[in-house]
Amino acid sequence: MSSVRTRIAPSPTGEDIHIGNLYTALINWAYAKKNNGQFIVRIEDTDRERYVKGAEEKILASLHAFSITNDEGPDVGGPYAPYRQSERLPIYKQHAEELIAKGKAYYCFCSKERLEELRSTQQKNKQIPRYDKYCLLNVKNAKERIAGGEKYVVRLNVTPDKKVWFDDVIRGKIEFDSNQIDDQVLLKSDGYPTYHLGVVVDDHLMKISHVVRAEEWISSTPKHVILYESFGWPLPVFAHMPILRNPDKSKLSKRKNPVWASWYLGEGYLPEAILNFLALQGWSHPDGKELFSVAEFIEKIDLKDIHPAGPIFDINKLQWMNQQYIQTLDNSSLKNKLLNFYEENQTIHGFLSNNKASETVLELAKTRMKALKDFSSLVHYLFESPGKDMMSEEHMQIIPLIKTALEQVASWKSSEILAVLKELMSKQSSAKMSLFYVLFTGSKQGLPLPEMLEVLGKDEVLKRLENLQK
Ligand code: GLU
Repeated sequence: MSSVRTRIAPSPTGEDIHIGNLYTALINWAYAKKNNGQFIVRIEDTDRERYVKGAEEKILASLHAFSITNDEGPDVGGPYAPYRQSERLPIYKQHAEELIAKGKAYYCFCSKERLEELRSTQQKNKQIPRYDKYCLLNVKNAKERIAGGEKYVVRLNVTPDKKVWFDDVIRGKIEFDSNQIDDQVLLKSDGYPTYHLGVVVDDHLMKISHVVRAEEWISSTPKHVILYESFGWPLPVFAHMPILRNPDKSKLSKRKNPVWASWYLGEGYLPEAILNFLALQGWSHPDGKELFSVAEFIEKIDLKDIHPAGPIFDINKLQWMNQQYIQTLDNSSLKNKLLNFYEENQTIHGFLSNNKASETVLELAKTRMKALKDFSSLVHYLFESPGKDMMSEEHMQIIPLIKTALEQVASWKSSEILAVLKELMSKQSSAKMSLFYVLFTGSKQGLPLPEMLEVLGKDEVLKRLENLQK
């Protein structure tokens, strides 16, 4: 068994998997794959106030939609199950007690009121708010108080005046002063661990070799380092990824960019394009390539090559990339993707599966789609003719002329249709391609008109013109 074991540890507190977490998932998964290791999904559902029902299922479904498959997790099990923290409470309690026995943690009974008072006095005196070790120094009968039913938390006993440091693969040595680190709560009064205890215990027990996560967790890592040392466990390798940023450099947020992976899928961005785009956040292909497969990424990725500076999440770039991916699909793959995408749209589904002309349309649409969602707006007029309300006087006047011209097309082929339209335009100055477009499609541009008229068929085209005249 390889020694590389990576993980993501999402909290089910949102709609789905955040695109930033998908990025972290990609790096963890690719790095595990590269090293023939394992990639684990662990659900960190200990914050019961922020817990969102159904979020875990959505996170797992999105990962699968991107073919980021986990070797272990709540959905597939594994040797270190359970993989849901809420099902591991006795493990955390036991580990908290182990730390207490070693003098590395202690019980705290302080009331909310006392903690608030302490905090406000410290703030008034311009001190960093932190717990003052009151219970460590004064409580001698903790066991009896607990037996008597008193509520408690367990706190980390941080030794003052020490340097706490770790090596980060991406950022080098990161050092903290232990005087800056609070006696963090490890076990809450509801029996749930805090993130810090849960993450360290589980990463150790699940034999995680590389902890690869977003940079927002850097400030938590010294607490984790103290915990590893307190337990007497070796540190995993740490790598803190850059967080993705809005174009104004602020942290990627809902206000400025869609953040849920499912939104991107719902727009018809291809998973492979999104992964390619994400791979390039903070990393460049050694040959400077912009488009590459996930297999190639797996081959080339090394954590140390990731740049720490926050990459800008440029949705226009993603659109461009998606377009490149769509263009290189062969018709049958594109068709399958569209069939899946438009599963609920019977008209498009029916057209793609039964109509021979769909091949021509696919070919034409392929170069004009930024996302699968664009397909419906490119072809909708095949299924519904534009109404009279969309026509101006100019359009109405041209109808008899174009009708007569099209009636003369003997063999209903795009080349002949085009020839007739061109002839009309040369004879009649008011006849313009944009007018023709509106007549048949309702908009001034779209897929090449002669080809689309061929797909519509002569009868339908003439019938539409007649209807407009009624
Ligand atoms: N539960 C944390 C999150 O929501 C995990 C952070 C970590 O990877 O350590 O992202």
